[in-house]
Amino acid sequence: MKNSDITLEQICCPVCSTESAKEIFRRPDHAFQVSSYAFPVVKCINCGMGYVKTRPSAQSLHAFYPAEFYKKNHTEAAPVLHKKLNLLNKFTTEGTLLDIGCAGGEFIHHASQNGWEAYGYEWSSTPPNHFSGRIAYGESPLEAYEGKRFSAITAWAVMEHAHNLQSLTKDISKLLAPGGIFVCLVTNFNSLPARFMQRDDIPRHLNLFTKSSLTRLLKEHRMSPIHWDFGNEIFSGSHLGLLVFLAKRFAGESIETIVEQHRAPGQRSLFCNTLYGSPSRMIKALCRLDKALTPGIDFLASKLNAGLTMTVIAKKNSADS
Ligand SMILES: [Zn+2]
Repeated sequence: MKNSDITLEQICCPVCSTESAKEIFRRPDHAFQVSSYAFPVVKCINCGMGYVKTRPSAQSLHAFYPAEFYKKNHTEAAPVLHKKLNLLNKFTTEGTLLDIGCAGGEFIHHASQNGWEAYGYEWSSTPPNHFSGRIAYGESPLEAYEGKRFSAITAWAVMEHAHNLQSLTKDISKLLAPGGIFVCLVTNFNSLPARFMQRDDIPRHLNLFTKSSLTRLLKEHRMSPIHWDFGNEIFSGSHLGLLVFLAKRFAGESIETIVEQHRAPGQRSLFCNTLYGSPSRMIKALCRLDKALTPGIDFLASKLNAGLTMTVIAKKNSADS
């Protein structure tokens, strides 16, 4: 698609509405190369929230979600479904469940086989629906399930994508019964992969949360965090590639080149085997070392609340009607 076919808009902080922000980096759409525009990723000077300040308008956004996006991101293996359900079941084990951004419905299918009355909501009807009758589509989850209240709501790697974050969070709060549980997995902007390796899927990831900005958003919508997890067992957000990144940066390669090699399809072998475009034994060796050390680095980062993904369990205030 030509850049001129994409309309852009500029926004203030999606959490606290502050206009002033500090630019952290700029990134084009590496993963699907829908446009070559370098989107500015900023950090709010008031609440610390990261976000894409100049971003595709609502009308242009769908162009950034080609069918390959759903193929690449939403084939879920049984162990992952099991881990998701185990996490939810630690906090509440029965009742009605709504999975927002449910893609083909794999998770609601799994939950319904394990005691939950599970429903799904999805913006796009592109992903194949494996669980017809239990997935609603539409402009918003509230519109799709008006008048219904759920004991639990889950959103796995969904809030990063929300074009209207306040409206989505408001819907979630309204659809959650008092005392109900919201499980929300997002990327963590205060992590090395997000900040140094620029791992977020820009511009599909529009909202880049920190623990404190997510807490603020949830509390404003009458949900209180009761548990945090920074591990990568559910979503594969890891530090893989960190050593090679460091070596290439130390050798003076530009961050733009390194990120492109790391993120763009078909360029990974350049990342793992070359330095300044020429074959490098050192980079090859570092790549092997990197693979060996990554599980340990990931474990340490999760203990320091610095993993690339964070999952919050929040409870809807009981006083709410
Ligand atoms: Zn803010």
